[in-house]
Amino acid sequence: MILLPCPWCGLRDSEEFGYVGEPRGRPNPLTTTTEQWRDYLYLRRNAAGWTTERWYHRMGCRRYLLVERDTTTNVVRPAGQVAPEPEP
Ligand SMILES: [Zn+2]
Repeated sequence: MILLPCPWCGLRDSEEFGYVGEPRGRPNPLTTTTEQWRDYLYLRRNAAGWTTERWYHRMGCRRYLLVERDTTTNVVRPAGQVAPEPEP
């Protein structure tokens, strides 16, 4: 079980959350190439070690949060900031 530190609700089971992914900027669809758009949609860093992730507390406060997670141990710590709403 992974416990995630929601800034509004406290420590909660990760089953209450939806994984959104690593925060990154959305390319402008009017100026990006097909290859850049494909990379944005499908490619992930998948790095071993500490990563910053965005989660959505779907069974709680329904807010987005950022956490840092070590992908090799699943140790989680707060990222120290509130996640902005993702772009549609
Ligand atoms: Zn919450």
